[in-house]
Amino acid sequence: MKVSKMFFKTYREAPADAELTSHKLLVRAGYIKKQSAGIYIYMPLGLRVLKKIENIVREEMDKIGCVELSMPKLMTEDVYALRIETFGNSMFRLKDRNGKPMCLGPTHEEAFTLAVKDNITSYKQLPITLYQIGEKFRDEVRPRFGLQRAKEFIMKDAYSYHVDQASLDEVYEDMKQAYCRIFDRLGLDYVPVFADNGAMGGSGSQEFMVKSTVGEDEIAYCPHCNYAANVEKAEVVVQSCMDKVKELPMEKVHTPNMKTIQQLVEYFGKEEKDFLKAVVYNADGKIVVALCRGDREIEEVKLANYLGVNADSLAMATHEQIQSIGSVAGFVGANTQLKNVLVVADQEVKNMHNFIMGANEFDYHYENVNLKDLVVKEYIDLRKIVKGDVCPHCHTGKIEIIRGIEVGHIFKLGTRYTKALDCKFLDENGKSQVMQMGCYGIGVSRALSACVEQHNDEKGIIWPESIAPYQVLVVVANYKEQVQNDVAEQIYNALQKKNVEVLLDDRKESAGIKFKDAELIGVPNIVIVGRKAPDGIVEYENRITGQKEEYVWQDIVNRF
Ligand SMILES: [Zn+2]
Repeated sequence: MKVSKMFFKTYREAPADAELTSHKLLVRAGYIKKQSAGIYIYMPLGLRVLKKIENIVREEMDKIGCVELSMPKLMTEDVYALRIETFGNSMFRLKDRNGKPMCLGPTHEEAFTLAVKDNITSYKQLPITLYQIGEKFRDEVRPRFGLQRAKEFIMKDAYSYHVDQASLDEVYEDMKQAYCRIFDRLGLDYVPVFADNGAMGGSGSQEFMVKSTVGEDEIAYCPHCNYAANVEKAEVVVQSCMDKVKELPMEKVHTPNMKTIQQLVEYFGKEEKDFLKAVVYNADGKIVVALCRGDREIEEVKLANYLGVNADSLAMATHEQIQSIGSVAGFVGANTQLKNVLVVADQEVKNMHNFIMGANEFDYHYENVNLKDLVVKEYIDLRKIVKGDVCPHCHTGKIEIIRGIEVGHIFKLGTRYTKALDCKFLDENGKSQVMQMGCYGIGVSRALSACVEQHNDEKGIIWPESIAPYQVLVVVANYKEQVQNDVAEQIYNALQKKNVEVLLDDRKESAGIKFKDAELIGVPNIVIVGRKAPDGIVEYENRITGQKEEYVWQDIVNRF
């Protein structure tokens, strides 16, 4: 391809709405162009990278025996009957000319399951894993970060169907290995992370997170054993405390005008960890008090999982609701004064002695509270993991909190969809059984932006060889010198003959502009045809290592 003929434009300035490096660079280097909020045009260079990522994903899926097909993106709304409430406004809904409710697919569990139900009847046809690569649609509240959170995005989604759990486990393992190979080939620095199954049920799930300081997800990571888990999921290990502490009698203390924990800390001359934190929730209409040490945070996902409710349905209790359980907002204490309420405590509370808590009365606290004074239904893992906690896997390393961009997710769904949609097969004994199911996603367009997030410098993008839009960029330094054009054309033709993907910058632009663009677009091998062209000498620059050397142009061609 010749740049003069390509639909291509670069920009010196990043778009005003761009916060992430990847968003800025992809727009500036002419890979994507905003069409409207959260919707992008893949320009010719961007499309080439996207196709390369798709092909790597496709190769690895095919290698483990997955079968590709393509589901419609526009479907009748009844396909999603099970989840129409869950999707709510995030689903694009429309009507056809006859008023029939339609939608744009946000994900395809139901569509695949219905197709499998129609086509598979016997255990002899199982297991099977189907996949597709294509557009998905979500009406994001706040589309942002370029391709990272867009309304229209490209995903690979795969769905596997099985006679039993053992078969599902096997395909899940294959998929995990395939995902590692894919992200390795994409040149991504990532961690597989134990994810939260939430109220979704299922028996296992892992996310693949690209390490990035601008990632939206927080991960608890152990550098000692490489354990990684979503902070919502990461188990906290508590060493039981063996200290013998003399328990003092509980006393009520007047604490007027103390609005903050800081004021109380000073008043009592104690530390934050000597206080009992009581957070009152309304969980689907049921009032729940969650307790933890004063310096800790309640992890609401853990609480929701314990209660068997969706984390979204947990709300802070109102002042009236707190009154209804016999207490006062800001002064909640977990003793027998509380009525009609479930009290659960973080396991670490068991190690507390002579602590302070609210007295269920305005402007009063209890001092020297001990476990015997509390009314707690159960002590469970309820707090958020923090930096420095002991690793729950190796029990040796200290947890670090890192950030990541989720680019893949694999999930054992069990019979959640197959049961609801009556997707069954006949087993060896002719008995009808519900299939086991797994689902496996990769954010293809998101992986593209994650890759730029990890591979760039102040001059622009630095593509890994595997997904660069072209392998070689040949630049004519001074287009007014015919000999430079001729040598460049010879290199271009010779490389094309060898099936090397080569781009020739033959634009009638200054050398400065072309050099800047060459570094901005990030093709890994740059060949500059300049002043020494009459002697057949050209300059070679490796964009990845930064190394520059002069070569006779035929030697450059031979390198590839
Ligand atoms: Zn560890």
